[in-house]
Amino acid sequence: MKDQKTTPNIAEATNDPHSFADPAAAIIHHLDLKLEVNFELKQLKGNARIHFRNRAKSDKIILDTRNLKIEGVRLDDESKVSPFHLESEVEFLGQALIIPIHPETKSVSIQYSTTDGADALQWLSPEQTAGKQFPFLFTQSQAILARTWVPVQDSPGIRFTYEAEVKVPSGLMAVMSAENPTEKNTEGLYRFSMKQPIPAYLLALAVGDFVYEPLDRRTGVYAEPVTIEKATYEFSDLPKMLEIAESLYGPYAWDKYDVIVLPPSFPFGGMENPRITFATPTILAGDRSLTSLIAHELAHSWSGNLVTNATWNDFWINEGFTVYFEARIMEALYGKDFADMQFLLGVEELKKTIEGFGDRSIDSHLKLQLDGRDPDEGMNEVAYEKGRLLLVLMEQTFGREKFDQFLKNHFSQNAFKTINTEQFIEYYRSELVKGDSAAEKAIDIERWVYGPGIPENAPQIRSERFEQVALEVDRWIKGNKASTLNTKNYSTNEWLRFIHLLPEKLRPEQMLELDNTFQFSNSSNSEILFAWLEKAVVNAYEPAYPVLKSFLNEVGRRKFVRPLFKAMIKTAEGRKMAEEIYKTSRPNYHSVTQSSIDEILYQN
Ligand SMILES: [Zn+2]
Repeated sequence: MKDQKTTPNIAEATNDPHSFADPAAAIIHHLDLKLEVNFELKQLKGNARIHFRNRAKSDKIILDTRNLKIEGVRLDDESKVSPFHLESEVEFLGQALIIPIHPETKSVSIQYSTTDGADALQWLSPEQTAGKQFPFLFTQSQAILARTWVPVQDSPGIRFTYEAEVKVPSGLMAVMSAENPTEKNTEGLYRFSMKQPIPAYLLALAVGDFVYEPLDRRTGVYAEPVTIEKATYEFSDLPKMLEIAESLYGPYAWDKYDVIVLPPSFPFGGMENPRITFATPTILAGDRSLTSLIAHELAHSWSGNLVTNATWNDFWINEGFTVYFEARIMEALYGKDFADMQFLLGVEELKKTIEGFGDRSIDSHLKLQLDGRDPDEGMNEVAYEKGRLLLVLMEQTFGREKFDQFLKNHFSQNAFKTINTEQFIEYYRSELVKGDSAAEKAIDIERWVYGPGIPENAPQIRSERFEQVALEVDRWIKGNKASTLNTKNYSTNEWLRFIHLLPEKLRPEQMLELDNTFQFSNSSNSEILFAWLEKAVVNAYEPAYPVLKSFLNEVGRRKFVRPLFKAMIKTAEGRKMAEEIYKTSRPNYHSVTQSSIDEILYQN
């Protein structure tokens, strides 16, 4: 049942408040990138050739740049340099690069190098890697950091294909969000090709000492040699996840799906770079209990990478859909119990986030208003969990079968396109509601999208296993010894719930009893350890401080680091400790984590 009806016209590019580009005039369709990676200078140097369509016979093309050193510009194959102009710097956005062109110009080549202000890049010394032998470089381009390492039209609404040639020191391998090598070569020269058009925020590069291990013909894992075995074990369900995802919402559009495990400073859990998810090593729990993160990144191959939010104000179109999709994969793989527990943990986080904003805040709307702000401010639980709640409400209202068909059509009809919130609402009305005014009213989508907080018609779910956890926590609060609690066979989710349900304030002997009984401070599961460390900070539980310090010095994942610093600065003593730790931990963090912690410590 494809293309039976005319679907709303989905624009290739919409007005993006976070890009200087004027895609209605001249728009990129292909990028040719040649880069040399210099670890001594911490610099990428090379050439970006932008192939574009001059739609409006424009006399110029505008690109986004931030902190790039532009060395020269050429038109097409001309040997003489051409004039260019960098506009003045705008906060968060950087500088527009204006290149005058002729009506017949097809491409512009920009000779450039990156600077210390290349916020997408993190250069790691050998000591900051797992193997401790070789340096490592990785990029994080989302939301608007691609422009700090490539001069490009950096808007999620603008897609292009790319080819790249990357020279790295010998002994190292390079991978990109493209067709990738599986072995090192002696010259250190790697060629990449991305044939499916992607937006700039999905440009990605990692360079280091890693190896490849296939899981099946389509999936595999890249990791440092010392980590590869652990990583392969942890991600062994990947082929199954991919099959489940396809059976739900249609064929996988990107040929291969690999995961690369990065050093612990990676600021996010994962980044859905097409064909190769970049992942934090903090999900290597040893028991495959934290792999829903991989299901999430895989789901982005449909929601986000295939059908992309038009601007960062529409971020829920990427993330809400992905959290919903992720849960469906996990439900098929591990059962409804498991998925429900994760759902409840997500709702818990959402409530905390909204409470932090204040329940009338515009930041709790699904449609965000990030104009003039750093789009990074919109990257929180609202897009993810409130977005998911709305989709679950749709599923419950229309029934799973109908909703699945709707989503499947959405992904195939809007593939390799961009969609904003208004276009999605139109699509939802024409393809799902279809005049069913009772259903339309029951959901009240406008209220979810343009209103604050969590609407009262939000789906309610129960988890029997979580109810059991609550009973055990209660027994302990009433004075039963921790060792008598029935926590046998607790999953990671149940332990997390357990820790979250503990009273805010605990006495030192209570913290000690829990720690001695359940060994929380020694947990090798990063989620459990993090939840416990948060408790430790709030209750000034000193026995956990050495672990807290080493955790914060090693791990740069913002989801963990930010709440711990936030908790520490609530007391004078805690603030002192936070400042002390940050002196040594800051250099280990990627710029996105650094700016979040700088804000907590120095702007409050
Ligand atoms: Zn995501």
